[in-house]
Amino acid sequence: MDRFADRRFGGFASELAQDGLEWDAFHYRNELLFSPVFQRVSPPLIRWIADSRGRVLSREIASELFARHFYSDMTGNSWRAMLDRRDCKALADAAKQSSRPGPIPVRMRTVSGETRSGIVRMTLVMEPDEAPLWYGTLEDIDERHDRDRRALADALAESRQHYRWSVELNPQVPWTAAPNGAIEEIGPRWQDLTGMAPVQAQGVGWIDALHPDDVERTMAIWSKRLRSGDPVDVDYRLRLADGSYRWMRSRASARRDAKGRIVRWYGTLEDIHAQKLAQRELADSEERFRLAVQSARLGIWDFDAVAGTRTWSREFRSMLGLSDTEPATSELALRLVHPEDRSRLAAMLDAVASDRMPPHFEATLRVYRADTGALRWIKSVGWSSFSDSGRPLRVIVTFQDVTEERSSEERIRWAATHDPMTRMPNRALWQATLDDMTEQARRTGESFGLILVDIDDLKRTNDMLGHDAGDALLCGFAQRFASCAPADAMVGRLGGDEFGMIAPSLASCAALAEWSAELLGGVRAPYVHNGRSLDYGISMGGAVFGEHGNDAAELLKAADLALYASKSSGRGRLTLFQSQLRAEAQQRSSMIHMARQAIADDLVVPYYQPKSDMKTGRILGYEALLRWQHPRTGVHAPDSIAAAFDNAEIAVELTEKMLAKVVRDVDRWLRAGYDPGRVAINASAADFMQHDFAGYVLDHLARCAIPPQRFEVEVTETVFLGRGAEQVERALHRLSAAGVRIALDDFGTGYASLSHLKQYPVDVLKIDRSFINNIEQDAGDAVIVDAIVKLGSSLGMEVVAEGVETPGQVDLLIARGCTIGQGYLMGRPRPWAAVRSQAA
Ligand code: C2E
Ligand code: CA
Ligand code: CA
Repeated sequence: MDRFADRRFGGFASELAQDGLEWDAFHYRNELLFSPVFQRVSPPLIRWIADSRGRVLSREIASELFARHFYSDMTGNSWRAMLDRRDCKALADAAKQSSRPGPIPVRMRTVSGETRSGIVRMTLVMEPDEAPLWYGTLEDIDERHDRDRRALADALAESRQHYRWSVELNPQVPWTAAPNGAIEEIGPRWQDLTGMAPVQAQGVGWIDALHPDDVERTMAIWSKRLRSGDPVDVDYRLRLADGSYRWMRSRASARRDAKGRIVRWYGTLEDIHAQKLAQRELADSEERFRLAVQSARLGIWDFDAVAGTRTWSREFRSMLGLSDTEPATSELALRLVHPEDRSRLAAMLDAVASDRMPPHFEATLRVYRADTGALRWIKSVGWSSFSDSGRPLRVIVTFQDVTEERSSEERIRWAATHDPMTRMPNRALWQATLDDMTEQARRTGESFGLILVDIDDLKRTNDMLGHDAGDALLCGFAQRFASCAPADAMVGRLGGDEFGMIAPSLASCAALAEWSAELLGGVRAPYVHNGRSLDYGISMGGAVFGEHGNDAAELLKAADLALYASKSSGRGRLTLFQSQLRAEAQQRSSMIHMARQAIADDLVVPYYQPKSDMKTGRILGYEALLRWQHPRTGVHAPDSIAAAFDNAEIAVELTEKMLAKVVRDVDRWLRAGYDPGRVAINASAADFMQHDFAGYVLDHLARCAIPPQRFEVEVTETVFLGRGAEQVERALHRLSAAGVRIALDDFGTGYASLSHLKQYPVDVLKIDRSFINNIEQDAGDAVIVDAIVKLGSSLGMEVVAEGVETPGQVDLLIARGCTIGQGYLMGRPRPWAAVRSQAA
């Protein structure tokens, strides 16, 4: 304690004593205040006392800091060395101006030469009778600053970090704007994005960075919100530093003061480019989907199984003729669907309701339009999607009005499988059904019957009454045929005049026979067309599955053979297949085989049978008849190869062979001075089918210089009935015009009408042998012969009796005016050489 202190406290000690306190004890405690312990907790402080001239009389350093950094000698004026000169002056000035000046900042030089900041606080104490003394402190404030600065720096760093994390790394760009909308601040990302300094964006500068196409719209929204104060939410494209554009979303709200006035706008700018593109892509794909649906005229029913919502698209509603407001319910759908299709729809709806829908389904249902009531065919195609666990997620069903397609498709399908004239199934469909039935019968072991029907006289009707009548006859028959058929039968027109029926209920010969009688009865009832009664006959061939054939082809063949047999054995009846028919067919094919052989080996030889005047016995001519001479088995008659005359290809070749040989023989006769009269050859229907039969014959004759007048062609009436009758007519006229005579062979047995005699250039009628045979016994035959003779002579035709074998027949014929005969009586067919010798 220095003496000034003692003095100061002397009075105080007496005061304490007055209060009953001991100064010594107090003094001791007071001493403790100066203990070094306090130095450790004290702020860096020097207490000092100076006289009025600034000389430090005493000083107390209350901190380790000063002890470390400053010279401890400060007494007298030496403290001045520690401070800056200007600070010393400032202290002096302050002391002059006030006895208690405010804190005076100073700079202090430390031992190490650095400068630290300090603060001087002081007060002048004036004791009576004492010189005034300055009491003061010098405090080092740098330490506190250091601490605060560190804290500040830390806080700043933390705040920067925070800013960086919360602002810089945030995709959003924060901004604020004045109440009038002028941008005041904008986050640093703005510059990162646009390359435009934030200051440039201030005010309305940011608009420069907008896509030109978005400026107007953005500004319109922004200025409207500025007026209303409502939150802003606007999308626009922002130009980036590299010149590309990115979609941004700008949102802002206004902060208001207590009076509700807008103080400031706070906003963010958010990069929504990826989102926008995804949205756009979605919108695009939705648009594409919508257009596809629209252009395909598809209606859509969409069931979201998760949300349980069902949606009917506009197209679907308009397809059904429903207004947009009509509630779309399953009941409504069921009501619109055709009663027969209702159960199918109900099943589909049930499946959806109970999560049992298949992944894919298709169904075409008939629906009555709600507005017009028109019946439409609606095709539905459904797709379901399922979660991984198999739970249904969604069912989409598309609908298409396929009425037009369906009807045209049906028309096409119908046309492909039906005969347009009779409207009956055609051969293709009939055959397919036969195949199916065969297959089924083979599986079940059940049988069925098959009948083929051929209209006998269709050609005649066509010829006589025209094709309309022929068509009417076909349609009339088809109708009778179909109405007569059992309910389980499949009938069809197999081509031309051939029809077929397959019937499980006619699975025996007896049943087929019974049914055919019924059909024949129906056919016999007159059929009237255009006021004319059309009369026709039918031939039928029948076969039973299992009994006559075990597959479709075999069965059809059996029925075909039976039909063939019916036609060649008098017609107008049913022939049921018998194995003998197969033998006959085999025989026919072996005939064809032999004919081929005869042609190939040049075995064909004409035999000549004379035609004579029965009154005088004079030979008027010959008919050339085909023989073929087998090297081992000898000479064969044409009946051994009769089937070959029906075969288009072989018949022609046979005729060619005959013609060549007959022409050669006639030529040889003529050269030998023998006049054979007229020589006839037989021509079959097939001959007329070849390109130019007349030309072919005439060329042959011309080549050997045989006058056509020496030649005759015999045809049966069947050549008028087959296909290509016009060609037959042309050929006959050409031959006739050239002088070749035309003879109608087997007259009276055919089916041709008398009109043929007018239509074709017939010169000769050859009365069939069957009439001559019994002419002596059968008065009826005599009458027919009589009629033919009269007919021939009245038409100016020559009449020849065939197969004259007895003198009695000759007498009778002559009596009836038929003087020309051909028969064994007058001469058998003989080879060329024999004729020569006989004639000679
Ligand atoms: P067709 O044209 O009616 O020929 C007459 C047939 O009657 C001949 O039989 C002849 O031999 C036979 N005939 C003649 N007079 C008598 C008689 O008094 N009594 C009997 N019972 N028969 C008699 P052929 O030669 O066997 O010929 C049979 C049929 O073969 C012919 O009948 C004809 O339709 C056909 N044919 C013969 N040769 C040819 C030919 O070169 N071409 C064509 N396409 N058919 C031919
Ligand atoms: Ca003949
Ligand atoms: Ca004949």
